[in-house]
Amino acid sequence: MTITPTERLCWCGNTDLIPFSPEYGECRACGTLVYLKDMPPEQLLVRDDETDFYGKKYWLEHQQDAFGYAGIHARTRNDLTERNLHWLKALLKYRLPPAKVLELGCSHGSFVALLRQAGFDACGVEMSPWVVEFGQKTFGVPISVGPVEALDIAPGSLDVIALMDVLEHLPDPVATMTHCLKLLKPDGLLLLQTPQFKEGMNYTALLETKGAFLEQLKADEHLYLFSDRSATRLFQQLGAEYIQFESAIFGHYDMFFAVSRAPLQTNTPEQVNSALLPTPNGRFALALLDIYDRELATVAQLQADNAQLFAKLQACEADRAARLEVIEAQGQQLGRIPGLEADKEYLISRITELSQQGDPLSPP
Ligand SMILES: [Zn+2]
Repeated sequence: MTITPTERLCWCGNTDLIPFSPEYGECRACGTLVYLKDMPPEQLLVRDDETDFYGKKYWLEHQQDAFGYAGIHARTRNDLTERNLHWLKALLKYRLPPAKVLELGCSHGSFVALLRQAGFDACGVEMSPWVVEFGQKTFGVPISVGPVEALDIAPGSLDVIALMDVLEHLPDPVATMTHCLKLLKPDGLLLLQTPQFKEGMNYTALLETKGAFLEQLKADEHLYLFSDRSATRLFQQLGAEYIQFESAIFGHYDMFFAVSRAPLQTNTPEQVNSALLPTPNGRFALALLDIYDRELATVAQLQADNAQLFAKLQACEADRAARLEVIEAQGQQLGRIPGLEADKEYLISRITELSQQGDPLSPP
């Protein structure tokens, strides 16, 4: 399907889009990759769980069928170790429990559950009543049916809003982020994970190299794929000018950052320990983080070992090539030694001479 980029607007208001792929254009003004089909703001809403895009089927079938992701039942377990601990660690850097946290697009609710375990006053929002009930039952955590604009939350009351893999789905990111910033305390922060479009990326090259970012070109779902520059511009425009990029779990196609209207204050590991150790649940959360840190250290060690082995292999290869060169050069050198050449010539001439004289045993 090729969509003609006619009047499609970027979130920044610009209509001048450079064709990128059949379904996306790159905004010349801000560097966001824009899905070319106009999606109505109602696209996110789930009025009918059986038929609407982000309804029950999105969770039970679409994620597996379209992208081969693990099903939601498997993810209730996997996400805790594969994603949630990374996010908790980052959040603790900026806020300590019992801060009030809202997770937009919390899916099955495992991150909300982990945050509550760590002592945060956390709750979640989802669009499908089915997935809301699923999360409430699975983790016993408070989850509301969105959109966030429809919830009864006092402005200026939240410390943190987390949006993991949500920003790219929003039909009107300016409106939703404006609303979220209003719900935050003046020094509150947003914590976001979203795909990172690297400006200058070339679609043909992506196809040729099977680039990881191709997976993020999700028709009808990923409406805006921000670059680090365009994400910074979006939040600056909304008055949240303090932005700090953190390492993303899937760093080859994602970015992960904290953003606030006030300078971002960070906690030391000692402050994090002091906040978590006083309660049994906090101690368990800290133990999980300790294991996670150890796992990270092991992975880092393995990567360093592999890099060292690779360097050794390269040195061996270079050494082998150098030895081969020497052997070849010596071979050539031998051929050029005057004495040997002369011997060879003498032998050839003697053989020729003898053969011309005929067989000495035959009669003359
Ligand atoms: Zn733009």
